[in-house]
Amino acid sequence: VREAGGDHIVSLSNATHKAINRKSIIEKRLLLALNQQNLKVFYQPQVDIHTGKVLAVEALVRWEDEEIGVVSPDELIPIAEETGLINNIGSFVIEEACQQAANWHKEGLDIKVTINLSVREFRDKNMAKFILSTLDKTNCPANLIQIEFTEKFALQAEAETSIIKQMRKLNDKGIVFILDDFGTGYASFRYMQLLPIEVLKIDQTFIHSLLQSEKTQRLIHGMVQFGKSMNLTVLAEGVETKEQQQLLAEYGCDAIQGYLISKPVPGAAISELIEESMNI
Ligand code: C2E
Ligand code: CA
Ligand code: CA
Ligand code: CA
Repeated sequence: VREAGGDHIVSLSNATHKAINRKSIIEKRLLLALNQQNLKVFYQPQVDIHTGKVLAVEALVRWEDEEIGVVSPDELIPIAEETGLINNIGSFVIEEACQQAANWHKEGLDIKVTINLSVREFRDKNMAKFILSTLDKTNCPANLIQIEFTEKFALQAEAETSIIKQMRKLNDKGIVFILDDFGTGYASFRYMQLLPIEVLKIDQTFIHSLLQSEKTQRLIHGMVQFGKSMNLTVLAEGVETKEQQQLLAEYGCDAIQGYLISKPVPGAAISELIEESMNI
């Protein structure tokens, strides 16, 4: 119901004003940062749960602005999605990730690099083409690139054949797809049949409560068994303790990612980490 004279605008709370203000500041500064190439990509290892061998690294965007300081991806990505700047972030991360994988490849280190792509980014009909041309431009072998997408994304993809076609095209070239945040979306298993998923990544909220209850343990054990029965590689994220690693290994989980192994770090630190682990 509208009040006379548009009084409702005046009644916007102080907090709402602040939020709108911060959003528009972030938007402005982000545009500048993209133009000045002030964004960075950090990498977090995904390792074999038994041997600790690095199987891949996840590319995670990082931004520290000289005026507003560090803006976390959890704040940045939703705003970028709203404003459309997510496409610019995506292009930047894809180029960085391919370049980094190609550089490691030249040094004789075949480290797979995983890129996060949001729904909105994959709606772009040129996404597959852009990724393939970036591989070409950077001389990066396709099998060194993986793509993480979320359950929510998968559900929408079910209705969007152009997205499915793009994913299959990339998969045919050797790009692996990882279902991220598994267990947090709506329970629909149809996309398991439709999409070229090869890795199941159990969401960190489950892992964090792993040791708290037997119920959670049975739940996670079931998720791992489900993944294995589908012939998928099962990866757990947010692993912070040895106890979590041990239980996950007992359940048959293949790989882990989390602070127990390493925080996300610059690319150079990854090379060191891997060279160290090869000397052991
Ligand atoms: P995500 O894809 O689920 O990434 C995992 C997040 O958990 C990362 O946060 C990572 O730093 C954090 N993490 C890793 N291990 C641990 C751990 O052991 N304990 C805890 N507490 N946290 C851990 P980050 O980098 O802040 O990213 C947050 C989210 O932002 C990501 O969640 C992803 O959805 C999104 N994001 C990050 N980079 C990109 C990007 O380049 N493109 C897109 N579309 N989204 C991105
Ligand atoms: Ca991810
Ligand atoms: Ca995740
Ligand atoms: Ca997440």
